[in-house]
Amino acid sequence: MAQESMIIVGAGPAGLTAAIYARRAGYGAVVLEENIYGGQVATTSVVENYPGVDSIAGTDLAVNLYQQASALGAEIRFEPLLSCSLREEVKKLVTPSGTLETRAVIIANGAKRRKIGCPGEERLNGRGVSYCATCDGAFYKNKETAIVGGGNTALEDALFLSNQCTAVHLIHRREGFRAVPILQDAVHKRENIHLHLNRVVTEILGDKAVQGIRLQNPQTGEEELLNLSGVFVAIGVQPDNSLYRGQLPLTEDGYFVAGEDCATPLPGVFVAGDSRKKPLRQIVTATADGAVAATLAANYLNQLP
Ligand code: NAP
Repeated sequence: MAQESMIIVGAGPAGLTAAIYARRAGYGAVVLEENIYGGQVATTSVVENYPGVDSIAGTDLAVNLYQQASALGAEIRFEPLLSCSLREEVKKLVTPSGTLETRAVIIANGAKRRKIGCPGEERLNGRGVSYCATCDGAFYKNKETAIVGGGNTALEDALFLSNQCTAVHLIHRREGFRAVPILQDAVHKRENIHLHLNRVVTEILGDKAVQGIRLQNPQTGEEELLNLSGVFVAIGVQPDNSLYRGQLPLTEDGYFVAGEDCATPLPGVFVAGDSRKKPLRQIVTATADGAVAATLAANYLNQLP
């Protein structure tokens, strides 16, 4: 009999780890990825909190995961999932190249960058508005930029940009940062990072390219303009699980409801990584989910006739 394959949606740390564990458990692993492998890690400048690894470029960690999964025989297909039907024992997943069938699915589709939603953001996206400092930062060498957000991503990106920009304006909607203290300390030490606390971006200005931003103090309504050429948005992520609505339970804000066993109410369907409701979203928790989901999926398949 041909080897049965699990289908894994998403080639981020959770999905690629699931593929590694699926292969080591003796199953095939077909991974669907609509974008680039590595997920958010691929757009992270440097990772310094993955246990056992002092420091590694995000792109290098993404390549390592991809190569490890591929070397074990996982098949990574770069195509989106268009629709799926997960209720029956044999699940059907539709992609542009056809319909895949399997008895075990692991959804590790991650989360996407949140948008500000202010005027100018959509129109100037790709013309000075960016959601990835590590991808686009080099275009702003010796220029002035802004980074919006107060979490780990925003502060890491501010540090990354400050190495090449003349000035980086870090804009956060409240007084205290959400980022870990080690990043806050590093940001405070950089002379070319200027903090704008209790400020929100109400408009991104520019005709063909970004020329500035309008800031507002939400408490006083006071406004100011900053002239700059790049705006990096790092105000968190949100899941995009609309494809599964009606088949799998979702929280109010759209995350999959599943416990630490990554199991869903549908037999043979598991969820792993940032799209699952959880208290800590890190690479280490995503890879842990991938390992758990694939191991339990293998146990599930082992028990089927
Ligand atoms: P995050 O931790 O959710 O932080 C988002 C930040 O954006 C918060 O400071 C939030 O403000 C602000 N924000 C949210 N909505 C906003 C809006 N509409 N307008 C203005 N500001 C808004 O997101 P993240 O930094 O992208 O990180 C995502 C996850 O990845 C987190 O779990 C994070 O720990 C993890 N991560 C970890 C590392 C690391 O460990 N080195 C690096 C990157 C990311 P408030 O604080 O006021 O809510």
